[in-house]
Amino acid sequence: MSTHRTKVLILGSGPAGLTAAIYAARANLEPIIVAGMQPGGQMTITTDVENYPGFADVIQGPWLMEQMQKQAENVGTRFIHDTIVKVDFSKRPFVAVGDGGDEYVGDTVIVSTGAQARWLGLDSEQKYRGFGVSACATCDGFFFRGKEVAVVGGGNTAVEEAIYLTNHATKVTLIHRRGELKAEKIAQKRLFDNPKIKVVWDSAIDEVVGGGNPAGVTGAKVKNVKTGAVTDLKIDGLFVAIGHTPNTDLFKGVLDMDENGYLITQAGTPRTNIPGVFAAGDVQDHIYRQAVTAAGTGCMAALEADRFIAEHGIK
Ligand code: NDP
Repeated sequence: MSTHRTKVLILGSGPAGLTAAIYAARANLEPIIVAGMQPGGQMTITTDVENYPGFADVIQGPWLMEQMQKQAENVGTRFIHDTIVKVDFSKRPFVAVGDGGDEYVGDTVIVSTGAQARWLGLDSEQKYRGFGVSACATCDGFFFRGKEVAVVGGGNTAVEEAIYLTNHATKVTLIHRRGELKAEKIAQKRLFDNPKIKVVWDSAIDEVVGGGNPAGVTGAKVKNVKTGAVTDLKIDGLFVAIGHTPNTDLFKGVLDMDENGYLITQAGTPRTNIPGVFAAGDVQDHIYRQAVTAAGTGCMAALEADRFIAEHGIK
């Protein structure tokens, strides 16, 4: 067990954390970034990215995160593979403890722990996770080549995943609990124009059906929420795409958060309720949730940390 000391301690290594690291390192603050359970964050479970500015051609999410990590390290960031299990922000310097007992001590902290996929909460969903039930089409779609799958949700993620899955599956059923989608109109048009996709409206998954593990999913019982009628849908895979939950359990009772667990920052800034602790990326953003907005707030957090260090005369 060892102690790691830094002026800027960054928790989480998605676009927010890595951008904060790049800016902090270039300000000679020698930041430490603790990568967390999913180094690179949610971008590592996407494939094609065509909305991150600076790349004329389509790039891959994992590649972009690799580049960001290398860039952060090249300018002087220490990148450490560890997961924080406890924090003490009651006094400065702030302390975070890794799961192996290592201590990370920072004059400032940037929380960029991101968010993760939400599940339906059915026992049968839990039973078949990894055996036909997934929350990441781009990770697992390949396993359903020539098969039939369903996607649950009506947002951009669900629509994008349904379209993506048509690259592998012969038929994709999108199941949505309402009569209209929440996704952007352009994405909706692509969905409706795709002959491999069928949309089932006003419906919810009642139960995931299968042949036990490891045989996996064979179907789902789909309930029309208006009529109560339950129909059997034959599928080999079910993709749950119903939004995300911020990774903030660690900060309960420590940092102010909203009713959904997103960290609250002062309007237009990355400042949390504790001076010297900043939040950036999806952990504090339930609206935009883009890699580029996460990177932008990561930059803001590093600039604020630099200012905080200067104002407090920290050497
Ligand atoms: P959203 O919160 O936007 O959508 C979640 C969807 O799941 C909604 O349609 C919601 O239904 C449905 N849902 C929620 N809970 C349940 C439940 N328990 N059972 C059944 N359905 C449920 O999440 P997304 O992950 O789609 O998107 C998150 C954010 O990321 C958004 O801001 C989105 O625009 C953005 N995004 C942008 C992309 C892009 O620009 N390329 C790609 C992907 C995401 P209801 O409609 O009834 O609320």
